[in-house]
Amino acid sequence: MLNRREFLQAGGAALLSPTLTEALPIAEGGGLPMAICTWDRLKANEAAKAVLEKKGRALDAVEAGVKVQEADPNDTSVGYGGLPDRDGHVTLDACIMDEKGNAGAVTYLEHIMHPISVARLVMEKTPHVMLSGAGALRFALANGFKKTNLLTPQSEKIWKEWLKTAKYKPIVNVERHDTIGMLVLDAQGDMSGACTTSGMAFKLNGRVGDSPIIGAGLYVDNEVGGACATGVGEFVMRTLGSFLLVELMRQGRTPQQACEEAIGRIVKGKTKDDFRDFQVGYLAVNKKGEYGAYSIQQGFNFALYQNGQNRVIESDYWLK
Ligand code: ASP
Repeated sequence: MLNRREFLQAGGAALLSPTLTEALPIAEGGGLPMAICTWDRLKANEAAKAVLEKKGRALDAVEAGVKVQEADPNDTSVGYGGLPDRDGHVTLDACIMDEKGNAGAVTYLEHIMHPISVARLVMEKTPHVMLSGAGALRFALANGFKKTNLLTPQSEKIWKEWLKTAKYKPIVNVERHDTIGMLVLDAQGDMSGACTTSGMAFKLNGRVGDSPIIGAGLYVDNEVGGACATGVGEFVMRTLGSFLLVELMRQGRTPQQACEEAIGRIVKGKTKDDFRDFQVGYLAVNKKGEYGAYSIQQGFNFALYQNGQNRVIESDYWLK
């Protein structure tokens, strides 16, 4: 594959927008192993780090990382304790991709604490990529997962409060705790990714967002890098955000340029929703461990474990 300079010399610059060729920003980061995840979830990175320090596989690290959030009752956007749909059902969406391009996903899964592990099992043990609803639940139970009541007293209380007005209006940067998307590069240089969520709070029953959709909420191509998304999934699904990010990096963009261009697609879109009322945040990582982040609104942040340090970084954003 051409590196960036070879790509530009070969005439690839013509494919890039003028602003991209004028000033090429230096890519942030670099170094393996590394883990990055949406929002300030240092504990998820710690769990990934524990796997990576033992020279573990990126796939095991992403699964271990996002499971921390799935089990946390105080995280109201993921797994146990996630806010329900408008009818009081906690319905979970998750997907996972490994370094070989294998993928697994579950959508509209109820009563299971760790949808990411079910998604992994779909990937590894079935001929399919995605299982949904009752079928996904049956598959999980048949494979030893236990039925759990995911609606905590706290989430139930918030839902009952919401029922008083019952107005669906996504809140920008909910407690800075939306979907967790995580990308990991292990010491061997292999990448995997995971994405898991309880979806938009008080969504219509049956609604599935971007998070379990391969190419929307998550995409990994071990030759190029990976990407993941958080925020209002409808915008991400319409533009196939994560796939777009990886393809932009394949064409030579830095992860940061790719994130800015993918948010630009949303902003310049002409859909029925006004992007100014919504949040979307993207993370992208290339094979060197260089990363990028960008969002529509102020307030998106992410946790980065790299070169032995685990820290929270604020993302740049469009609406200034
Ligand atoms: N992306 C998720 C969804 O649309 C929600 C979120 O990140 O808050 O379901």
